[in-house]
Amino acid sequence: MIENSMFEEEPDVVDLAKEPCLHPLEPEEVEYEPRSSRLLVRGLGEHEMDDDEEDYESSAKLLGMSFMNRSSGLQDNMSMSRQNPNGSCSALSTRTLVVCTVVLVIAVSFIMVIYLLPKCTFTKEGCHKKNHTMELIYPLATNGKIFPWAKVRLPPDVVPLHYDLVLQPNLTTLKFAGSVKIVVNIVQATWKIVLHSSGLNITKASGEHQAKPVEFLEYPLHDQIAVMASEALLVGQNYTINIEYSSNLSDTYYGFYKISYKDENSKQRWFAATQFEPLAARSAFPCFDEPAFKATFLIKIKRDEKLSTLSNMPKKATTPLTNGIVQDEFFVSLKMSTYLVAVVVADLKNISRETNGSLVSVYALPQHLNQLGYALNTAVKLLEFYQKYFLINYPLEKLDLVAIPDFQSGAMENWGLVTFRETTLLFDSNTSSIRDKKLITAVIAHELAHQWFGNLVTMKWWNDLWLNEGFATFMEYFAIEEIFPELHSDEDFLNLIFKAMMKDSLNSSHPVSSAVQSSEQIEEMFDALSYIKGASLLLMLKHYLTKDVFQAGIEVYLHNHNYGSAQSDDLWDSMNEITNGTLDVKKLMKTWILHKGFPLVTVVRKGKIISVQQEKFSYCVEPENWTSDASYLWYIPLTYITSSCNFTHCTNAYLLDQKSAVIELPEEVEWIKFNVDMNGYYIVHYAEDWKTLIDLLKKNHTALSAKDRANLINNIFSLVGLGKESLEKAFQLIDYLKKESSTAPLTQALFQLSLIYSLLEKKGEQQLAARVMHRIEHLLGDKIDQQCWTDDGTLSQRELRSTLLTFACSHDLRKCRTNATEIFEKWMKSNGTMSLPSDVMKAIFTAGAKSSDGWEFLLKMYSSSVSETEKSKMIEALASTEDVRKLMWLMQNSLEGEVIRAQEFSHIIATVSQSLPGYLLAWDFVKENWEKLTRKFHLGSYTIQNIISWSTSQFATKAHLLEVKSFFESKSEKISQLRCVKEAIDTIKLNIQWMEKNLAKLRKLL
Ligand SMILES: [Zn+2]
Repeated sequence: MIENSMFEEEPDVVDLAKEPCLHPLEPEEVEYEPRSSRLLVRGLGEHEMDDDEEDYESSAKLLGMSFMNRSSGLQDNMSMSRQNPNGSCSALSTRTLVVCTVVLVIAVSFIMVIYLLPKCTFTKEGCHKKNHTMELIYPLATNGKIFPWAKVRLPPDVVPLHYDLVLQPNLTTLKFAGSVKIVVNIVQATWKIVLHSSGLNITKASGEHQAKPVEFLEYPLHDQIAVMASEALLVGQNYTINIEYSSNLSDTYYGFYKISYKDENSKQRWFAATQFEPLAARSAFPCFDEPAFKATFLIKIKRDEKLSTLSNMPKKATTPLTNGIVQDEFFVSLKMSTYLVAVVVADLKNISRETNGSLVSVYALPQHLNQLGYALNTAVKLLEFYQKYFLINYPLEKLDLVAIPDFQSGAMENWGLVTFRETTLLFDSNTSSIRDKKLITAVIAHELAHQWFGNLVTMKWWNDLWLNEGFATFMEYFAIEEIFPELHSDEDFLNLIFKAMMKDSLNSSHPVSSAVQSSEQIEEMFDALSYIKGASLLLMLKHYLTKDVFQAGIEVYLHNHNYGSAQSDDLWDSMNEITNGTLDVKKLMKTWILHKGFPLVTVVRKGKIISVQQEKFSYCVEPENWTSDASYLWYIPLTYITSSCNFTHCTNAYLLDQKSAVIELPEEVEWIKFNVDMNGYYIVHYAEDWKTLIDLLKKNHTALSAKDRANLINNIFSLVGLGKESLEKAFQLIDYLKKESSTAPLTQALFQLSLIYSLLEKKGEQQLAARVMHRIEHLLGDKIDQQCWTDDGTLSQRELRSTLLTFACSHDLRKCRTNATEIFEKWMKSNGTMSLPSDVMKAIFTAGAKSSDGWEFLLKMYSSSVSETEKSKMIEALASTEDVRKLMWLMQNSLEGEVIRAQEFSHIIATVSQSLPGYLLAWDFVKENWEKLTRKFHLGSYTIQNIISWSTSQFATKAHLLEVKSFFESKSEKISQLRCVKEAIDTIKLNIQWMEKNLAKLRKLL
C-alpha cells in the first residue's frame, strides 16, 4: 500500500527546541482482551496461562462446559490409548485410590478457597473483583457460551490451504451475499477451528466428513468465530468448512465497499471495490486473516450482465445464471495472504499491452480512457526492470492497474489487481504537471515492487511491515533513478527522509520493527518510519555493501522465501550468505531496526586527524534518560568526501561501531563533508568546522552536490534545535541561496524558514513573521522574478518554477499574485476553455480563489472537470481561501462526500490548518466530528494520523497543549495512547519550547 499524503507537504513540526524529557514509551507485547467478558476458571494470572490446548482442556474440565467435555474426552481418549493399547479398563490399585483421594481433597479445598474469598461474589460469570491472581480467562461468545480462544492472534493449530469464495454484490440493494469453502490442515489435534469474521451475518456453517452438525460461535470483539467440530480433528488431517453469509457493502474505505459516481451522462452509478490491507479481508469473507496464513483462492463473482468484474487472476469462464445475472470464475490463485485478495465490480474501460508473457492493462471509468497511456507505458517499463533486477519473472499471466473513483490511500498492491486513487494513475497531458508525472511514476513503481516484496515474500507479522513498505519505497526510488533519471526522484526521497527524521526525533517515535497486536497498533505501523526510514536504511546498506552485493542479497532473500513469509532476520541472513563472513550484516542492521531514533555524529578536525563521536539525537535533557541513551550504539557506515577529491568515486567509508573513533587522512584538507549525498540515516555536527562549510558554499557551492547542500541546511537547522548551533550560523549558511538553482536545497531551506514563519504568525508575532518573509524575499526575490508562466524548459527547471511560484503566490511575494490573478481572470473569461500551464496551475488557482467570484467559479469548474489532477489543484486552491464560511463549507462537504469526495478530506484539513484564518477552525472541526472521522477512516489509519497531526501542528501555547491533551483523554484511554496523539502532544511541547528559547534571538537577528 502507499499512502497518498506521503507525497503531500508535511505539517510544520518545529523540532528546533530543547525539550524536557518526555519519557519514551516503548511498545509492549500487550494483549487487548476484554476484561469484562472473561471467565474465571482458576487462580492464575493471565501471563501464567499458556495458550495451548492442555490449559484450555483443564479449564474446561473445571467448568464442566459441554463442548469442553468433548474436548477433554479427546485428551482422555488419547491418554488412555497411550496407557492401554488394547482399550480395556484395568482394575484400580490401592495406591491409585490413595493418590486419587489426596487429589480430590486438594481440589475440593481449592474450590472452597475460591468460594470463600472475601468480597467475591462467585457467579457463573466468575469473580468480578479486580484481583490479578483471579483473572478471567476465556471470553463469552455472542450466544453466552464460552468462546474457546482468548487471544487476538489466531491459534497455530489449524492452517488454511485453499479457499473457494463466491461473492454476489448487488449494486441496487448495496448488499452482498457470499459463501466460502475453506480447506484447512490440522497441525495440532483439536476440536476447534478459530478464524476471522467481522460484521458478517453468518447464516450457515457446516463441516465436511463429520457425523454430527458443527457448533458455531462468534466473538466480535476480536473479529473471531469458532467452528466446533463434532469429532476430534487429528494431526495431518485436511478438513473442509463451509460458511454462508451476507452483509452490506461498506460505506467506509475498508472491506468490500461501495462508491457512488456520475457517469458520462451525469447519471448516478455504483462501483464496488475491495481494500483489505491490513485487517479488512475478514469483513468480506470469513478467513484466517493474518499475513502468514497463505493459501490459494478460487474466486467466483455473480454480477449484473452489464457490469464487468476483475480479480487477482485472469478470468476462466463466464456462465449465465438467471434474471440477467452471470457468474465470472477466475483461475486459482498462487499461494498468497488474505490481505492481497481483491475484487472490482464496475463499468470500466481499459488499454492493454503484453510483455514477457503477461498482459498489462490499465482500467478506469470510460470518461478517463484517454488518460491511461502514461500509466501503461510506465508500468510495462517498470515490470521489465524488476524482472531483470530480481531475476524472478512476474508470476501471473496478467497485471491490472485500476483507477478507483474514491480511495483512501494512494494505491494498493493486490496481487495481479493493483488499485489506485485516480490522481495516482491518470495522466492528462493538458493538465498534469511535472509533479503529477513524478507522483504517478513513483506510485506505480512502489506497487509493482510489492509484487515481489510483499506479495511473493510477505512479512510474517505486522511488526515487520517495514519489510514490505520500506522495500517497496526503496525500490520505487531506485527503479525511477535507473529508468527515469530525468525525474530526479532521489531529491524527492531526500526531502521525505528529512521529514521522517523529524518524526523519528520525537519521543513518541518507535523502532522500525516494533511489537504490535491490536488493530490500532497495526494501523499505526503504516507511517513514515515503516516506509521512509525503512527505505533509507536500505539505501544506506546498499551504499555500504555496494550495488552488486546488495542486489545479490536481495535475490537470495526472494528465492529463499518465495510464496512464504519472512522476518527481518531472514533478510540479514540472506545478505550474510553473500558477504560470507566478511561483514555481519545482521549485527550491523539490528542496531538500526531495533532502536528508535538515529545518531548524531560529531566531527572534530585537527590537521589530518578527524575525531568522530556518536550519541543519540535527542531533545531529552533529564539525567535519567542519559543512562538509557548511553546504551544506544549504532554501527554507522560513515561516508565522507574532502577538498582533495570531492567526486562520488572519491567517497571514503568508515564503519563507526564504537562510541568514538579517530580517522587519519592521508593529507591535510581544506574541508571535509560527511554523509555523502545523505546516503546515511544520521545527522552530522561539524563542531568547529561549520564556518569552513559556510565559506565553501559562499565561494563555490557546486563543489558539493545538490543533495549535500540540502543535507547541510537540514543538519544545521536540526542542530539549532538541539542548542548545539546558533540560529545566526544557520542563517549564514543559507546566505548562499541567491546562487542556488537546484530544487532540493531550495525546498529544504523554504521548509525550515516556513516552519519559523508559521509559528510566529500563529503566535501573533506578525512583524517578526514579516521579517522572516522579507529575508526569504531577499534571498530568492531575483529568482522568483526570473520565472515565466509556461511549461517550458527542462524537467528540473519546470520543477523549480513550480516550487518558487507556488510559494511566492501563497505568501504574496513580488508580483506573483498580480500575474497569476491576471491569468486566472482570462481563464475565467474563457469559461475555463483556455489552457493553463500545468506546472504553475496551482499558483494561478490559488491567486484566483482569493476573490469570491473566483472561488465560486473554481468550485463550478471543480464539479465539471474530468481531470483528476486538475481537480486536486483546484481543491487545494479552494481550501486556501481566507473566508472562514467557505472553509467550513469545504470541510463539511468533503466529510459528507457528495460534492467533494471524502478522500479529499485530509488534503483539505492539511491546507486549512496551515493558514492563519483556518488553523483554529480545523481543530474545532476535528473535535466536533471525531466520531464520524474515525468511523470513516479507522482509528490509527494514516489518514487519522495526518488529520491529528495537521490540525494540531500549529499550536505553540500551554493552553492549546492542555486542550489537545484533555480532548484525547476525554475520548478513551485507547485513543489517548495512540502514537499519533503522543506525537501531536510532543510537537506542541517542542513548539512552545522553541518559542521560549528563540523569540528573543530572532528579534535580534532579523
Ligand atoms: Zn506499499
